[in-house]
Amino acid sequence: MTVKQLTIRRLWPRPLTSTSRMSFFYVLLFSLSLQTTAAQVEPKGTIALVGAQVLDGYESTPISDGVVVYQAGVITAVGSVADVQIPANATVIDVGGHTLLPGLIDSHVHVDLIGHGSYERYYAFLGGDERLDEVMPIAAKQMLRAGVTTALDLGAPFEILNVRRKIDSGQIPGPRLLVSGPWITRVQYDTIPDSYEVVISSPEEGALKALELIDRGADVIKTWEGLTLQDYRAIVGAAHSCGIKVHAHLYDPEAIEMAIEAGVDVFQHVGSAGNPPYENALINTIAHKEIPVVQTISHRVWVYPSTVAFPSRLQRAEYRTDMPDDIYEEFMDSFQNFHQLPYFRNAATEIRNSKQSARQFIEAGARMGVGTDAASPLNMHLEAIWREMSALVDSGMTPIQVISAATKTNAEILGVFAERGSLERGKQADILVVAGNPLEDIEALGRVALVAKGGVLWVTENSTLQIDDKVNHFNSP
Ligand SMILES: [Zn+2]
Repeated sequence: MTVKQLTIRRLWPRPLTSTSRMSFFYVLLFSLSLQTTAAQVEPKGTIALVGAQVLDGYESTPISDGVVVYQAGVITAVGSVADVQIPANATVIDVGGHTLLPGLIDSHVHVDLIGHGSYERYYAFLGGDERLDEVMPIAAKQMLRAGVTTALDLGAPFEILNVRRKIDSGQIPGPRLLVSGPWITRVQYDTIPDSYEVVISSPEEGALKALELIDRGADVIKTWEGLTLQDYRAIVGAAHSCGIKVHAHLYDPEAIEMAIEAGVDVFQHVGSAGNPPYENALINTIAHKEIPVVQTISHRVWVYPSTVAFPSRLQRAEYRTDMPDDIYEEFMDSFQNFHQLPYFRNAATEIRNSKQSARQFIEAGARMGVGTDAASPLNMHLEAIWREMSALVDSGMTPIQVISAATKTNAEILGVFAERGSLERGKQADILVVAGNPLEDIEALGRVALVAKGGVLWVTENSTLQIDDKVNHFNSP
């Protein structure tokens, strides 16, 4: 989340009566039963995906008539139809006319969000963090359906670990998750429940809290606003002593200078393209130090004009099928007069600034990762990743560069490249198949036909592939 609304009255936690607790319990049971009706279909034996253009995650020449073979969730061969010997007992799936690439990685998501128009109203509706167990599975499903097979959540209470367990055990669809848990800040953010943040007042407290978060399960540490140089140093020192990276939410040039000085590992937002351009010297320092930049530019300056141009994007059928009635009604109602939402108050200025600021890191040769800040207002998980990648192409990256950034580079940033982020023998079978050619039109990444995570296959509602019933569907009839 990037919005600053620091003067808003706290609206939660709203105490639940015993009656509402009981009805909440039954709603929860019902929604969980909706989400777990069908057991996940695990593929048996060897699978060969044949005939697609294959992009392996590197910035290299595509394989035009490619094959990917996997068994027990692990890739055993990648190459052209002419070169790869497909085992005689393999189940062959024809993916001709499609492009096959590594499952996408999103280095900045919020699994607790679904794209509702207002954070304040959303958390009031959810009773603070009371209904996170209901909304997180919706978000997780939408991410996997969008081809995101790994995601870094940057700021949620540790209830997210329950959702991760359900995903990992195959109870609900979703990406492999890495999490920061609550973020560390000096500035209290009154628009969100207290469980989302750890407010510190000294460097010593920062270090202690970082260690506590790591002990509770944080895979990375996220820092937010108002920290001093000594705070950054203390937090980075504590995290690094445990082999954990620090991701900093950064806008102000002074905060960026401190983060460089303190050795912060990954720079998140660094303007989100909504800020005026930074000084060249600052950009060049970040580029020379090869500090990964995850700019999250689409949610500020591409989502809004796209919605003005085509408001129907808010009404996709999947939203109706994914959500319980009351959440769906609240979600849709939050888009009334969306142009007046506080989140988009500065949209016109941000869009003007973005012409320069979105591309300055790319032109300086910075190490670009890809993250979406999904699902900030109107930035739904179902579209966020391809919109971000499209925005990065608009800002100067080539399609193959941005695909490599969202797979290989993101895997490196998250420290998982030994297992995934490219299509290579021995890596996990996390695979995305889209209709058409994203090298020609990056928005083809929005036409997801098939997703594999650890070899388990998921077909989308709008899939352009004919596949028999040995796969999973996101919404079984
Ligand atoms: Zn965020």
